Amino acid sequence: MASTVTSAELEAWLRAAAVELAAHADELTALDSAIGDADHGTNMARGFAAVIEKLDAASGGEPTVPALLKSVGMTLVSKVGGASGSLYGTLFLDMAKASPAEDALTLAQAADVVAAGVAGVVGRGHAVVGDKTMIDAWEPAVTALQDAAASGASAADAFAAAAAAAAQGRDATEPLIARKGRASYLGERSAGHIDPGAASTTILLDTLARVTAESASDGKSA
Ligand SMILES: [Mg+2]
Repeated sequence: MASTVTSAELEAWLRAAAVELAAHADELTALDSAIGDADHGTNMARGFAAVIEKLDAASGGEPTVPALLKSVGMTLVSKVGGASGSLYGTLFLDMAKASPAEDALTLAQAADVVAAGVAGVVGRGHAVVGDKTMIDAWEPAVTALQDAAASGASAADAFAAAAAAAAQGRDATEPLIARKGRASYLGERSAGHIDPGAASTTILLDTLARVTAESASDGKSA
C-alpha cells in the first residue's frame, strides 16, 4: 500500500493531465463561454502543453518535488492567460514553497502541500466555498485528502476521495450565482452553469487519482 507520492508520479500526473485537459478543452471552453470569456479550455490546454515541453527539454534526472512544482507554477503564470493562469500558477508555486526538498512526499505531507497551495489561491482570489469558483472544488478536496491521510489510506485511495469530493463541489456550483470573477458580472444569469475552474480542478484531481492507482498496481512504489 503506497502512502507516498514520488516526483516521478507527479510528473506522470502532469503528463496525463496535459492529455486530459487537451481532450476536455472544448468542454471547458463551452462552460466558460456560458459565464465567462470562452478561453478556459484553450488556456489550460496551452499551459499544460507548455509544462510538458519544459519537462521534455529538462535534463539531469528527476527533479525534487518542489523543483517540479515550481517549474509548473512558473510556466502556468507565463503561458496561461487571465485569472486562471495566475490562480493555477499560485497554486503550484505555493505547493512548491510548502514541499520539503525531497523526491517523495508522505501522504500527510502531500495533504499539507495541497492545502498550502489552495490557501495561496484563496489569498490571491479571496473566494470562499459558494462563490462559484475553483475553490468550491478545491476546499472539499483538501478536506477529503487530509481525512484520508489521517486515516492511513493509500495515496491512490486518498486522491480518489479528493477527486470525488471535488466532483461534488463542481456539480454544486451549477445552481449558484457567481460572487467572484468575471461570471459575477452576470449576476443571476450565472446560475444554471457549472464553473469552469471547478471543472478543470476536478479533471486534475481525477487524473491524479488514476495515475496514483496505476502506479500502485504496477508496484512501482511501496
Ligand atoms: Mg476565461
